[in-house]
Amino acid sequence: MPAIQAPAKVLVTGANGYIAVWVVKYLLDQGYSVRGTVRSESKAAHLREFFKSFGDKFELAIVPDITVEGAFDEAVKGMDAIEHTASPFHLNADDPDELIKPAVEGTVGILKSTLAHAPTVKRVVVTSSVAAIIENQDTPRVFTEEDWNDQAVNWTKKDGRNAPNGMKYRASKTLAEKAAWELHKTHAPSWDLVTLNPPFVLGPLLQDVSSPAELNTSSKAFYDAVVANLRTPEELVASTGAWIDVRDLALAHRRALEVEEAGGNRILIVKEAFCWQEFLDAANKVNPSSTRKLPVGTPGKYATQHLITYNTDKEKRIFGLQLSDKEKLARDILTDFDQKGW
Ligand code: NAP
Repeated sequence: MPAIQAPAKVLVTGANGYIAVWVVKYLLDQGYSVRGTVRSESKAAHLREFFKSFGDKFELAIVPDITVEGAFDEAVKGMDAIEHTASPFHLNADDPDELIKPAVEGTVGILKSTLAHAPTVKRVVVTSSVAAIIENQDTPRVFTEEDWNDQAVNWTKKDGRNAPNGMKYRASKTLAEKAAWELHKTHAPSWDLVTLNPPFVLGPLLQDVSSPAELNTSSKAFYDAVVANLRTPEELVASTGAWIDVRDLALAHRRALEVEEAGGNRILIVKEAFCWQEFLDAANKVNPSSTRKLPVGTPGKYATQHLITYNTDKEKRIFGLQLSDKEKLARDILTDFDQKGW
């Protein structure tokens, strides 16, 4: 028996975000009703237009500031499940609290609102990240869902504004996810919790974005490396982390609601470690444009070692997703860029 199934009502926070628009689409396509939260009416217009064929199965609630006590009290009412994705993902924060405050208070806030105002909710899924798991390494290490990134939290606590910006983001994700599990343990509510831990999320865009400069952080990284030729040859072959197709991650968000055994788990949703040169080679192989010339870098020259890799047995056991490969990803995202004239 699925934990949640259509036509259940699902709240998706930060519904205008890169990942969230795909999550909303996959839920609506399956027959769920979705209420999305956005910060302002101006962020709602594109979504209303994009999902208008779903009629009253899709609605929006404006939550101007997720750090305000009780911000989600109204939005959670009547829901059967929650997908909490809203959290800042950028690498330009000076003050770490720019990231940590909304990440932690937004997560704790939605869980508290659910406790107090949503007795119908059966499951809450929080979009965490590998950022909450991995620590920098000098020698190769395989990470699992048992691992927590205390390094980023300690580093950011110690150095504050002077901590590397990537560490500030990682600290925000670690502290937010820890707070979610802690609150769940303390209150032992009738709903269960799932956290999903993806790495770099890549793939076509559904969100409202009118130029490459406005791209979300992970899509911008792809654009800069594979289209705009902004990476040095050394950067292209350096181990860059790991990736997942945004559509596979959206499906994981839906499966995280439905699959009973997912409850109570952190789950890594990871395709594989990569360097940008691998995507350059894939992109040149499948380039759908007859006019666009892509940078070539140094074909076939890849990172010789990835210090950080992942054990994804849990995802395979619980979800068994068929994950997209680099060529499919590259073809689809380049087609999307072509259509946008970028
Ligand atoms: P995104 O396109 O930038 O979307 C972020 C969403 O969070 C937007 O709806 C945004 O609203 C909202 N948000 C950001 N800061 C906020 C704040 N201070 N207060 C209220 N809402 C705020 O990013 P994304 O890549 O889709 O990320 C979504 C989630 O996935 C985040 O939790 C992120 O940490 C996680 N994640 C992303 C990746 C990746 O590679 N993309 C990897 C792992 C995990 P506004 O548009 O109003 O700012």
